[in-house]
Amino acid sequence: MTDEEVLRALQDAGAILSGHFVLTSGRHSDTYVQCARVLEDPALTTRLAQEAARRIGERHVDLVAAPAVGGIMIGFAVAQALGVRFIFSERENGSMVFRRGFSVPEGASVLVVEDVVTTGGSVAEVIGLVCAAGGRVAGVVSLIDRGGRKAFDVELMPLLRLEVESWDASECRLCAAGVPTYSPGSRRLSS
Ligand code: ZN
Repeated sequence: MTDEEVLRALQDAGAILSGHFVLTSGRHSDTYVQCARVLEDPALTTRLAQEAARRIGERHVDLVAAPAVGGIMIGFAVAQALGVRFIFSERENGSMVFRRGFSVPEGASVLVVEDVVTTGGSVAEVIGLVCAAGGRVAGVVSLIDRGGRKAFDVELMPLLRLEVESWDASECRLCAAGVPTYSPGSRRLSS
């Protein structure tokens, strides 16, 4: 898939919305990313995962690891495309941990997968877990890179780079034009 085809597929799936949104930060934007809309389509998820696997190229991967909740479905799909094992991390008392008997073998080459990366705080925590277990990180794959500075210094291989602009409500031209706002509130899913 070309970058243009990836963008169109995400738009067609309703994963990239245009309108007037109040983000969880409280800032306003004309664009909203809702990756779960991609993941409700298994065939599209599989196609995107295969494209991610193609972009990884010759890098050796023993295992895919993803942070819950957002990374689980795309992480599983990328692991399936690569023919390797898949594990996910989750929060326990605020800290990211591998539970359920999941482990990283000493020396394993681990690909970290996430749906949307903005600052990449969760990704950085998964990288920390992998390294603490004696594994090494082969790279990071995401469906979307929202741009900006990252909390990790491993190579990020996104399927799509999408800089989403946001601004304070007081300087919102959509508010000034009287366009009604919509608060997607997707955070509820991650609790
Ligand atoms: Zn506004």
